[in-house]
Amino acid sequence: EGRCLEAAPFPAETLGEWQHKTRVSPHVPYAMTHDDIFSNGGMANMVNWDYTIMGERMAKDERCAGPGLAAYFVKGALDRNIPLHTNTSAEELVMDGDCVVGVRAVHRERELFVKANRGVVIGVSSFERKKELSRRIGAMLDPVSMVMDSIQGTHLRMAGEAGAQIARVPDVSMLGFHVPGEEQEEGVPLWRGALPFMGMPHSLVVNSRGQRFANEAFYRSVYFGLEEIDAMTQTYKNYPCWVVMDHQSRQKYPFGSVMPGERMPAELGVTADTLEELAEKTGIDAAGLLNTVTTYNGYCEAGEDPDFKRGTFPWGAMMAGDPNHKPNPNMGPINQGPYYAVRLHRMAGGGITGSGILADQHCRAMGWDNQPINGLYVTGNSQVRIDNGALMQSGITNARGITHGYLAGRHAAGKPSDLLPKALASGDFE
Ligand SMILES: Cc1cc2nc3c(=O)[nH]c(=O)nc-3n(C[C@H](O)[C@H](O)[C@H](O)COP(=O)(O)OP(=O)(O)OC[C@H]3O[C@@H](n4cnc5c(N)ncnc54)[C@H](O)[C@@H]3O)c2cc1C
Repeated sequence: EGRCLEAAPFPAETLGEWQHKTRVSPHVPYAMTHDDIFSNGGMANMVNWDYTIMGERMAKDERCAGPGLAAYFVKGALDRNIPLHTNTSAEELVMDGDCVVGVRAVHRERELFVKANRGVVIGVSSFERKKELSRRIGAMLDPVSMVMDSIQGTHLRMAGEAGAQIARVPDVSMLGFHVPGEEQEEGVPLWRGALPFMGMPHSLVVNSRGQRFANEAFYRSVYFGLEEIDAMTQTYKNYPCWVVMDHQSRQKYPFGSVMPGERMPAELGVTADTLEELAEKTGIDAAGLLNTVTTYNGYCEAGEDPDFKRGTFPWGAMMAGDPNHKPNPNMGPINQGPYYAVRLHRMAGGGITGSGILADQHCRAMGWDNQPINGLYVTGNSQVRIDNGALMQSGITNARGITHGYLAGRHAAGKPSDLLPKALASGDFE
């Protein structure tokens, strides 16, 4: 019912010249902690947040959430006189026999060689922005992405040349949308995750037959629905899909950067006075949509969703719901025009892909002979997740990356962690 780990507001001016070399994120209100957000009603109640605190923090450039966490790490490196290079692309590992001894990088068309006395740690995230890799390795057709444009799969190429194994656990198909005109970086469209918005009251998600297929307020349920393939037609049963909202939703709740009560940008989706007209404009089956909405509206009276259990998971209620909405924070009828539909797009990984380099407990990259590659470590999203079966656990990728970076550092420094052998010896788990 909260965050496992939260960065306290970080005063970015203490970074000196690095204050302006580090980024804030277009995805999060970077001057708010999760406590600030949830104690004032969560994403649904954005209009009730404490904007005085936000304004003061922004004026002082105090960073919270991901941008705050990243800034703490930059400060940690600066305080230890660890050189940092921007605009420098790691291109290739330098090998001495089967041992990794350095990196070849390129800085503004100039080659730069870095010698590694203890080892190289690869932490260049995943391959999400590279469409062909998302297709072939992530098995996703035409996905969009909300991560930075530089996330291009360098780890697979670099570690692959050193003989590292690639492994895959299930990817997490997220859904997203693009508000026209918004850019992630110059010339790169900004894709926003639909997750916090599609589970709010007065909205639901339907396929082209106008049918719901998941608990819209719980990403794992959406994932399994999205992945379903109709064997007879060899097509995705539930993709493409749309989020459908009514006037009440637009009056009360934000949708990405479109604030409550603000007019929906015309190119973002479709607006119609009736559900029939909405179906006609989107191509969704009208009878199916009407039937679904009538059934769903009936469920809203008791606040119970017998089909998909919307509103029954604490995670969905907190992250994608309105705690002030009774009796169910995720359910409210869709019965007041005008109505809105926004086509949702499949997003590669959502910042957390299912594939990467296989590593051992010291985060050493593993070769195809199942032996660690000398001098090569891997962390963050570059290392494959190992949580197989029921999809990734929300919100722990950063904790995983931090822990793995620490374990890699310990091993490279000649002080490998003995926690895992100790835990195994204790017999508490296998
Ligand atoms: C909107 C959003 C919300 C999220 N919320 C959470 C959350 O609540 N909790 C959580 O734990 N996780 C969350 N995540 C996921 C988390 O942010 C990522 O999993 C994490 O940042 C990955 O860390 P990383 O170090 O592997 O990669 P990144 O943080 O992406 O860093 C990789 C760096 O490598 C650089 N790079 C790439 N290629 C090269 C190259 N060839 N040479 C040099 N540099 C290169 C990139 O520019 C980048 O700076 C969220 C992600 C998003 C997008």
